[in-house]
Amino acid sequence: MFNIVIFGKPGSGKGTQADFLKNKYDLYHISTGDLFRKNISNKTKLGLEAKSYLDKGDLVPDSVTIKMLENEVLSNKDVNGYIFDGFPRTLNQAESLDSFLVSINLKINATIALDVNENELISRLLDRGKINNRSDDQDIEKIKNRFNEYNTKTSILIDFYQKQDKFFSVDGKGTVDDITSRLFDLVDSLI
Ligand code: AMP
Repeated sequence: MFNIVIFGKPGSGKGTQADFLKNKYDLYHISTGDLFRKNISNKTKLGLEAKSYLDKGDLVPDSVTIKMLENEVLSNKDVNGYIFDGFPRTLNQAESLDSFLVSINLKINATIALDVNENELISRLLDRGKINNRSDDQDIEKIKNRFNEYNTKTSILIDFYQKQDKFFSVDGKGTVDDITSRLFDLVDSLI
């Protein structure tokens, strides 16, 4: 089993790159953002609970998010590894993920951050918002709030994973292919 966390600010390309990593290393891709959006469009109880947070660009409370993530792992156990995309995003989520994985005899092998500056991300997100209908990609204030959530709650995870010697940063600028090959080189050197 090889389990990867991919993180980065909104628009850094986590979802796109997680898909390439999933295919190349035969991993199961779990995107908490996608899970929330699926629940919102299916109007489930979880979706109704999460919607107002996504609409504003706020993080969904840990209690809801952690349970959803654990259920997704437990419902998909017969896999070669997981790629966690957009989770964890808080210290509490990271600590819960570690203890949850220990409880099922697993661990995180590597955490990879995609590094892109905020000005580049704003123009990527506004472009993406024109085609994907996501309200949180169409409004500059919501985008800035998502950066603020990242800077105040998620960036501390760098230190958390550095202390475990599991943190790697990859330059997230350039073409999609360039970034994919940087990621493949890194993962190849780790497995
Ligand atoms: P993403 O698709 O990863 O950009 O996530 C979109 C939105 O889903 C975020 O702005 C949050 O509202 C919510 N979300 C996704 N993952 C998490 C998480 N791990 N913790 C809390 N909220 C999350």
